[in-house]
Amino acid sequence: MTTPARRRTIPVSIRNVTVGGGHPVVVQSMTNTDTADAAATAAQVAELFLAGSEIVRITVNNREAAAQVAEIRRRLEDRGHDVPLVGDFHYNGHVLLREFPDCAAALDKYRINPGNVGKGAKHDANFATMIEVAKDHDKPVRIGVNAGSLDQELLARLMDENSRAATPQSAQDVMHEALVRSALDSAAAAVELGLPADHIVISCKISRVQELIRVYRMLAARTDHALHLGLTEAGMGVKGIVASTAGIGVLLQEGIGDTIRVSLTPRPGEPRTEEVRVAQQILQAMDIRPFLPQVTACPGCGRTTSTFFQELAQEIEGFLQARMPEWKRAKPQAAALQVAVMGCVVNGPGESRAAHIGISLPGTGEAPRSPVYVDGEYVKTLEGPGLVAEFKALIEDYVTGM
Ligand code: SF4
Repeated sequence: MTTPARRRTIPVSIRNVTVGGGHPVVVQSMTNTDTADAAATAAQVAELFLAGSEIVRITVNNREAAAQVAEIRRRLEDRGHDVPLVGDFHYNGHVLLREFPDCAAALDKYRINPGNVGKGAKHDANFATMIEVAKDHDKPVRIGVNAGSLDQELLARLMDENSRAATPQSAQDVMHEALVRSALDSAAAAVELGLPADHIVISCKISRVQELIRVYRMLAARTDHALHLGLTEAGMGVKGIVASTAGIGVLLQEGIGDTIRVSLTPRPGEPRTEEVRVAQQILQAMDIRPFLPQVTACPGCGRTTSTFFQELAQEIEGFLQARMPEWKRAKPQAAALQVAVMGCVVNGPGESRAAHIGISLPGTGEAPRSPVYVDGEYVKTLEGPGLVAEFKALIEDYVTGM
């Protein structure tokens, strides 16, 4: 297995999780409940946390929301969920953090968007207030720049300078530079105000894959701060998953990114936890972090005449997911388990041998028997109605012996 080398960044402690500094890449998510509704928000934070989100962000957009943050924390503690909570602030963070010290204390990190902290002289004063609160409460911050809310004064200044340059750059180049400069200047300002460098995470999110890759390469070349990575406004379903995977995957392969979020728009009725599953799957597919046993299954073809092979692959995947919470406590190494469920003799035995445990089902015209391989060796042949239960039992035995 080849795991991409990670860039060494300045580690940041966020409650019980460390981001950067060579620590494992952390999965984050964000709620979409009204934070003023403490019960609903605590329930969704818990749902995301149990799905594997190691940090959860909540919006803190008004006084009603800020007033409930401590209550959300209390409800999570009642459930025994020690999950880092990040407050997402725009426009009025300087007011809310000062007016609601229990909110400032209950949060584990403040997300500050430099494009949304006020204009002109107020910008610096408001930003300074938020940094002062972070210092008072010894909390880290994320300087979270977003292309959709880029500091327009900075952009106008850079555009102006560019227009006077001997060889002007394209408007897009200037915009990318503005994103990076906004993040780096804000981080430098925070340090100047007395916030330690190991209390700062940076992000520069943008919604186009190639631009995201370019901006993060620029960032990585110019800062040692830990980087939060994500394609913003990724969209729904397959489009959102593929675009996020493409952007995040390229950057992770280059060692860029200490924490990730997949910003999927859930379809109505879809669980919010999908984004956590996708983030984990990106990290697992790239051999960066294991979360769940993986099933290698062939796509099936004309050699597989029944749906039994697909049903078995699905059944085994569901079984592994259902067993993982218990294995996580007793056998955490089970997260790296590789199981193969293959459809015929063409690639079945080969893939089954390459997995920790694999089964090769009979294709068209093959004898109705299914050889099982463990650690590359043939161990037995399964057949008949007990096949599924027997294969599950073999997986269970394998995990017990891990
Ligand atoms: S392993 Fe067999 S059934 Fe599966 S795709 Fe290959 S040839 Fe088809």
